[in-house]
Amino acid sequence: MLFKSTRSTEKASASAAEVIKQGLASDGGLFVPESIPTLSKEEILSLCKESYPVRAARILSKFLSDYTYEELLADCEKAYAEDSFVGGAAPLVPIHGPFSALELWHGPTAAFKDMALQIMPRLLSRALVKTGETRIALILVATSGDTGKAALEGYKDIDGIKIMVFYPVDGVSRVQKLQMATQTGSNVNVTSIRGNFDDAQSGVKVIFGDAEMEAILNEKGYFFSSANSINWGRLAPQIVYYVSAYCDLLEKGVCKLGETFNVCVPTGNFGNIFAAYLAKQMGLPIGRLICASNANNILTDFLRTGTYDRNRDFYLTMSPSMDILISSNLERLLYFTVGSEKTAAYMDSLKKTGAYTVDAEALAAIQENFCGYFADEKATAETIRRTYREHGYLADTHTAVAISAAEQYVAESGDNRPMVIASTASPYKFANNVYRAVADKEPSSDLEALHELSAYTNTEIPYPLAGLETRTVRFEEVIDRDGMKDAILSFLN
Ligand SMILES: *Cc1c(COP(=O)(O)O)cnc(C)c1O
Repeated sequence: MLFKSTRSTEKASASAAEVIKQGLASDGGLFVPESIPTLSKEEILSLCKESYPVRAARILSKFLSDYTYEELLADCEKAYAEDSFVGGAAPLVPIHGPFSALELWHGPTAAFKDMALQIMPRLLSRALVKTGETRIALILVATSGDTGKAALEGYKDIDGIKIMVFYPVDGVSRVQKLQMATQTGSNVNVTSIRGNFDDAQSGVKVIFGDAEMEAILNEKGYFFSSANSINWGRLAPQIVYYVSAYCDLLEKGVCKLGETFNVCVPTGNFGNIFAAYLAKQMGLPIGRLICASNANNILTDFLRTGTYDRNRDFYLTMSPSMDILISSNLERLLYFTVGSEKTAAYMDSLKKTGAYTVDAEALAAIQENFCGYFADEKATAETIRRTYREHGYLADTHTAVAISAAEQYVAESGDNRPMVIASTASPYKFANNVYRAVADKEPSSDLEALHELSAYTNTEIPYPLAGLETRTVRFEEVIDRDGMKDAILSFLN
């Protein structure tokens, strides 16, 4: 299987290893496979009896044909090991009626980014060998919180790779700060920056484009790489859990082989829901794909009108991983809908004017698969409270947005097929807002909220967040933005 850029009319020529190493295509587009492999009913049936790592290796091998099945299986077994994903990699848990939660947050940082970030570094490590790379990859990450921690956990102690994370000193929660400051691993570094997230992010961008730094690194035997969410190596592993969810629906007798189910995904960068779309294109019997947004409902508008317009107010919400005005992976959907030339034109328009409108035919094709709903802050809190009190299911803020969207969809359409709702974070990851919603009380503090939520709901704090206060702090350095280069060089020495 070869890959090409979403913006190029040339034939696919990049291998999976090259694509994973490179991240973004050289013309600024995203890598896509030359064709979508198929998944037959018999294959689905044969996966039902298998463990999650085997399901994952089988699906990945369809896209990563330059990796052997044995390599993929070995990596998947380590990535989704039971001591890392406690309670299963992607269990399907009933919520109410036709709704079930596909819980993607049992991994080492209690959020869904782990599903991809536990496996992608292993794929990158192999990609370095496969492409004859002799230098060490230095991953630089600017984070406003969750991605940084998930990347640290994913890349720690992986061969041929080092990772440095920069975060704004006053821009992350106390829990997030503690999670990163206590990070283990011999190849990791965490540094906080005086300033906000934009300072950290633009600082990293400048360094990525700095020819002098590149030369210095090269001399030391390193090259820069990113853990970016648009990397194919992060997308492919996300296809697996939708197939896995269907296997579980079959095993539980909720669906018979060939019967369809709907999927609802709390969406930010459009990566998770795009993976569900790919699973559908492969042959997984998915009916509707419901794209759930918070108050930043740019995708709801796009899916209803065909106009994507980022010239609008930006809101900070209690579901911060969905506070996004540019959903990068939407470019991949455009490519599969209208081809590379129109995609390149839309992306050009987005860059120049902040907006584009797809033609009527394209909108109709997109609407055959997708529909969009959103939940504002009030609806999100109300959904957390009601879902817990009436159905006993404790949802985090992002999952609650999706539950609300799925409920709106069912009320409007009357479509009562089984609904798999992607649950993207443990309620404890956003314990303060979840506690506020279920208990109708102010938590004493960010950290105390974990214990208060546990006592109120009689549930356990998941292991990645338990005992944070007592772990050894390894990284305390705070620097100015213009000290980032020096910090990198001293980490490498
Ligand atoms: C990243 C994230 C999302 C959004 O996923 P995309 O793939 O960016 O659409 C939703 N919820 C949580 C908790 C996340 O961390």
